[in-house]
Amino acid sequence: MRALCWLGADGLGVREVPDPELRNSGDAIVRVRRSSTCGADLPLLGGRGPSLTVGDVLGHEFLGDVVEVGPGVCRHRVGDRVVVCAVVACGSCWYCRQGLYACCDNGSTGAAVAEQAWGQPTGGCYGQPRSAGGFAGSHAEYVRVPYADVGAFAVPDQVDDDRAVFASDAVPTGWLGAELGEVCPGDVVAIWGAGAVGQMTAQAALLRGAARVVVIDRYPDRLRSAERHVGAETLDYRATDVAAELRERSGGRGPDVCVEAVGMAWDGTGPRSLADLFATAGRGGTVPDRPIAVREAVHACRKGGTVVVLGTFTGFVDTFPLGAVMHKGLTVRSSRQHGQRWIPMLLDRMARGEINTGHLATHRLPLEQGAHGYDLFRERADGCLRAVFTP
Ligand SMILES: [Zn+2]
Ligand SMILES: [Zn+2]
Repeated sequence: MRALCWLGADGLGVREVPDPELRNSGDAIVRVRRSSTCGADLPLLGGRGPSLTVGDVLGHEFLGDVVEVGPGVCRHRVGDRVVVCAVVACGSCWYCRQGLYACCDNGSTGAAVAEQAWGQPTGGCYGQPRSAGGFAGSHAEYVRVPYADVGAFAVPDQVDDDRAVFASDAVPTGWLGAELGEVCPGDVVAIWGAGAVGQMTAQAALLRGAARVVVIDRYPDRLRSAERHVGAETLDYRATDVAAELRERSGGRGPDVCVEAVGMAWDGTGPRSLADLFATAGRGGTVPDRPIAVREAVHACRKGGTVVVLGTFTGFVDTFPLGAVMHKGLTVRSSRQHGQRWIPMLLDRMARGEINTGHLATHRLPLEQGAHGYDLFRERADGCLRAVFTP
């Protein structure tokens, strides 16, 4: 089959790779209908964080048709249109039984790498390095879906492919952000990042009754998109003193909940981002994660509030403002998404029109143009929120 592969210094390219096969009784093979780019993958492509191996197939947000099932699969049949959670989890270990699917003990086949990096193995993810399981990604014609009864979900007819694909990761990650923030009716919520995850966090916060949701970014088209399609207020951080403006919009205190939804991709400004450059230069080429938006969120948050880290970090960060966390009495929470818990509920909300994802796939491309799609997405060119590929 054809698949979009990481080729190291040569960038990305479509190559012929072996068809996936059933390996365990709970596996299914899915023929991909749509597969989306995601900001979490950009640092990997640039060689930051744990590295891919040349030839690895990229992509982790997808939906498609079931074309083959193992004998242990009960909930899906050949022909079902399913969206697959980006996180791979077994559904039966202690963590999965608590609903903490992203913490699954058995989701990753590269447990030793994760143990070394983080102390314990975590759930897997498609199209990521060995530390996340080394599962082949979804920018391909076919994908092997392990634990298909746990991670694949039938899509209601009312939700078309271009909208449903985001139930794989962006929508449940946004839901997680509002849940970790314990957003309550009347809360003021600030979100760093107007990409798909930031917008879905805004939508979830509004559904939980937030009084004001303010999304912060530097790209005018993304900010307009968050206003128009989600109903959020926005701030352009290049033109505004963000902390002062957020205090102004929250009774002088600062937001109750601050969500960071950008991870390592944030381009900061001013002296605090210079600190990151020096830290990088001093490491002989090893690049530490840059927690610029996390620091801004910690500084802006009201005393006793909650800061949620949703963006992807892989290793260590420098200059984390622990003093502010302590003296302001902040709660800091983070996780990868436990989509297995929420995807059916989220698909229902999408079918009813409560969650709007119809505007996220700004660019639809054939898989052959995958490298171009990533260029558009990385540069935020031509108003690109997400590039979505069709094999
Ligand atoms: Zn993603
Ligand atoms: Zn598990």
